[in-house]
This record gives sequence, C-alpha cells and structure tokens, in this order.
Amino acid sequence: RAKTITGRSLCYYDAAMDEAARERNAIAKDLKRALKDEEFRLFYQVQQSVVSGEITGYEALIRWKHPVRGFVSPMDFISVAEESGAIVEIGAWVLRTACREAAGWGNDLKIAVNLSPVQLNDASLIETVRQVLVETCLSPSRLELEITESTIIGDKIHALHQLRQIKAMGVTIAIDDFGTGYASLDTLNSFPFDKIKIDRSFLMEADKSAQARAIVRAILALGKSLEIPVLAEGVETEAQLGLLREEGCEEAQGYLLGRPVEFIGAVKAA
Ligand code: C2E
Ligand code: MG
Ligand code: MG
Ligand code: MG
Repeated sequence: RAKTITGRSLCYYDAAMDEAARERNAIAKDLKRALKDEEFRLFYQVQQSVVSGEITGYEALIRWKHPVRGFVSPMDFISVAEESGAIVEIGAWVLRTACREAAGWGNDLKIAVNLSPVQLNDASLIETVRQVLVETCLSPSRLELEITESTIIGDKIHALHQLRQIKAMGVTIAIDDFGTGYASLDTLNSFPFDKIKIDRSFLMEADKSAQARAIVRAILALGKSLEIPVLAEGVETEAQLGLLREEGCEEAQGYLLGRPVEFIGAVKAA
C-alpha cells in the first residue's frame, strides 16, 4: 500500500514538473515576441534620504504587459529570460529606456537599473552602456547599476573587470539584496561598491524581531566603516523608518515612501 502512495505522489510530482517546464517554455517563446511587440514597461520606485526625506533617485523595475496574461511579474520571467539568453536584449532595452526617460526628467536624480548576471558576463555590456549614455546624453553619474551577489559568481574575474570598466565611465554600482547571498562579505571585499542595499527581508522582520534589527544595525555599521552609503529596501512602516533614522541609514525605499509607478509625470511633479 505504501508503495502505491509513493508511486502516486511521484506521478503527481512529475506531472507538476512537466507543467512547470511547459510553462517556462511557453514564456521563453513569448518573450522574443514581446520585445518586438513592445509589451515591456518600466515602473519607477522612489528612493529617498532618510534624514531629509529628499528624493535621491528612482529604481526602474520592468513589467510585462501581456495581451492575455495581463501584467506578468519580473519574478516570473526574468529567470526564463536568463536561461534563454533573451535577457541580454531585454536588459539593453531596460537600460536604454530608463536612461532616455531619466534624461527627460529635467533634474539630476539617479536612475537605478537592475543588471542580470547573464548581462554582466556578456561581452557586449560595456559597449551597450557606452552607447546608451552617448545616445541618451544622460550624465553617467546619474546612472546606477544594481547587481546582486549572485551576479558575480559566474566568471568572477571577468565580471569584476566589466564592472571596473563601467565604473571608469562614471557610472555607480550598488550591491542589491545585500545579506541574502552566501558570500556577502566576500563580494563586498572584491569590489568598491558605491552603495549597499539591505535586502527587504531584514526590514520586514525588523518590527518584530530583535535579531533582524541587530542585523540591520550590523550592516549599517559595516557601511559606516567601509564608507559606503546604505539604502534599506522594503520600508513599509513608520517604525521601520524610525529605526533607520536612529541607526543612521542614509537612504530608504519601500511601499511606505512610494510604490513603483508607471508615469513619469509623477516623477516630474515630485
Ligand atoms: P529588486 O531589484 O530587489 O527590486 C525590489 C523589489 O521589491 C521590486 O519588486 C519592488 O516592487 C519590491 N518592493 C519595493 N518596496 C517594497 C515594499 O515595501 N514591500 C514589498 N513587499 N516589496 C517591495 P519587483 O518589481 O517585482 O521586482 C522583483 C525583482 O525582479 C527585482 O528585485 C529584480 O531583482 C528583478 N527585476 C526587476 N526589474 C528588472 C530588470 O529590469 N532587469 C533585471 N535583470 N531584473 C529586474
Ligand atoms: Mg534592485
Ligand atoms: Mg533588492
Ligand atoms: Mg531582489
């Protein structure tokens, strides 16, 4: 009897795997068409100074406006785009669009753009960044590229070499989702990052957990001693913002301060 149950659950598992694989395949095919059909959109989420409340910049976050599925979350298609390689083209579109729109804001706010590990390993990245900056006339110091620790686990030497070249153009580099990877400190030690973004999981816990608060404090202390400004992601409550203020965190981002929005009009008015 036990055997039957095992057999059945295995069967069920396989069917689910199959379904997931089919779904990813369908998405992979659809991504190519989506780029051509201009179905991607950029939303922007505000980043601001903890002390003054002043807006310091916006992070560009991709959305897929699918004709049938509606808005598809990046969580559901970025990894597929990475597997198929489509992320190189999609990422170049994100970079170009974000820089073009930011150049039109009429201010000198930062525009933060997420970079996939696949883009960082691709040899075309340097030329893409250079071209986009020339084409959009965006001042390089306004562009910030966000990379996660996992971004530089592939070919580390090559990735760091590319980052150095980008930084030499005057573009700044932030380490995203800090504290969640397995080699956070090593990553921090291997490259002169311009900003540390504390992962939002620590902020989410901070209201209830003394341990999470201790980790937030430790990351802030690390930033202080390395002289790297720290931004906290996922700030949803006044209590969290209060903690950041007390502990000397430079910048914050989260639903409390603003959700990602599509319209640049909102940016201009800010
Ligand atoms: P991320 O770069 O860490 O971006 C922050 C994510 O947290 C965004 O999710 C944002 O909407 C969400 N968020 C911001 N504030 C809060 C908050 O207070 N509470 C909660 N619960 N969430 C908050 P989103 O837009 O779904 O993006 C998810 C991830 O997808 C991003 O994480 C990033 O890793 C990736 N991604 C988004 N756009 C791009 C892109 O253009 N290129 C690449 N390569 N990856 C992207
Ligand atoms: Mg990010
Ligand atoms: Mg993040
Ligand atoms: Mg993330």
